[in-house]
Amino acid sequence: MSGDQPPSPRLELAVGDITAEQVDAIVNAANETLLGGGGVDGAIHRAAGPDLLKHCRTLGGCPTGQAKITPGFGLAARWVIHTVGPIWHGGDQQEPELLASCYRQSLARADEVGARSVAFPAVSTGVYGYPMDAATQIAVETVRSTPTTVELIRFICFNDEALSAYQGALGAG
Ligand code: ADP
Repeated sequence: MSGDQPPSPRLELAVGDITAEQVDAIVNAANETLLGGGGVDGAIHRAAGPDLLKHCRTLGGCPTGQAKITPGFGLAARWVIHTVGPIWHGGDQQEPELLASCYRQSLARADEVGARSVAFPAVSTGVYGYPMDAATQIAVETVRSTPTTVELIRFICFNDEALSAYQGALGAG
């Protein structure tokens, strides 16, 4: 044993709305402006309250594949990690690399603030059109292979399609 590698985080699946998660940090599938949008982004901004948007305006946006962290304001979660997934263009425009980067960068932000529990939505699988099976495989593989001090990662499934995709991805590992 090397002794200096943190143990891998425990992975959990849950069905529901990520805004209700009682974890240290929830991840937002944002867009490059960080100024709000539809889907999970809209839900997070509604639940966090207007101070989140006020804070996001100071951040200057976020490139695809990167992540920025803010307070959670009205959320139960102390932090929101805003990551920008790739728009699916068929798979040959670095979509897999960019999506993997979202998960790595989100964990890096979590580590920086000492967050021990993090909930992720299925980044890019809504309006951005990333196929669910492929996206959940990348999510699971990437968090399993990224060194982090996060102890618990919850994948929040908004519907049955997401749940069965994550079940497949977790089983395949
Ligand atoms: P993107 O633009 O990255 O595709 P979306 O918000 O459109 O982001 O969708 C990302 C995923 O989040 C989709 O699988 C969608 O079903 C899911 N989702 C939407 N609202 C919520 C929510 N409140 N909690 C958890 N997941 C959600």
